[in-house]
Amino acid sequence: MAKPGTGAAAEPDAGAPAIEVRDLHKSFGTLEVLAGVDFTVARGEVVCVIGPSGSGKSTLLRCVNRLEEPTSGTVLVAGAEVTDPDVDIDKVRRGIGMVFQSFNLFPHLTALQNLTLPQRRVLGRDKAEATRVARERLARVGLTDKESSYPAQLSGGQQQRVAIARALAMDPQLMLFDEPTSALDPELVGDVLAVMRSLADEGMTMLVVTHEMSFAKEVADRVVFMDGGVIVEEGSPAHVIGAPSHARTRSFLSRLL
Ligand code: ADP
Ligand code: MG
Repeated sequence: MAKPGTGAAAEPDAGAPAIEVRDLHKSFGTLEVLAGVDFTVARGEVVCVIGPSGSGKSTLLRCVNRLEEPTSGTVLVAGAEVTDPDVDIDKVRRGIGMVFQSFNLFPHLTALQNLTLPQRRVLGRDKAEATRVARERLARVGLTDKESSYPAQLSGGQQQRVAIARALAMDPQLMLFDEPTSALDPELVGDVLAVMRSLADEGMTMLVVTHEMSFAKEVADRVVFMDGGVIVEEGSPAHVIGAPSHARTRSFLSRLL
């Protein structure tokens, strides 16, 4: 039962969009990084956020799970108000998987242990169940044979796939990706994008900051172009990437070629 003010507000609301952001502002000192952002991600939707460096993409993503405190505005995840000071933020975060540019694996743990530890600590799963889920998720990202490897023994692409599997082991309702392939050698990018594509095909809700325009074109339901802390335009990939309305979008895309 949803009892406001007890943390139960984090209870997912089956009818609510996966993410709703309303008039979001974020400043660091005098620097306004988000200057009024509104957008919604529906359940099962894949939204790619593109835009120049410094346009506020990472800050926006980090405001969704409140790794960053917004200056003003509202963020709701599955109907739970993340920006409500009384919300049970740990509970909200448990439903959100996040994958960063840097893989952030525990270096002293094997791939399997990287997946079992958070399940046991955060979800309270017993060892057998956590191990079963971990093996299933490692199989899903094509790394069954690497479960005993330490991060340093894996390529960047394999480490990033372990990071994705680790997020998936927590059974998230929503995945946030912040330039997951930007730190990878070009030949390793494809395997990570293939995993992300298969997740999208399975209906995972995904908010993805990326510079991979072909991925955005083929996989995104919607593309959001940000510049200077605002959404300049959004729409289908065919529109935003294929035939952008705004000069700023055209200029950004032409610089990627
Ligand atoms: P993007 O991901 O689009 O490159 P960011 O959201 O990382 O952009 O950053 C937007 C702006 O906010 C940049 O000018 C960046 O330097 C600044 N910024 C980000 N995080 C901080 C912080 N913790 N303190 C001060 N400035 C920050
Ligand atoms: Mg960024």
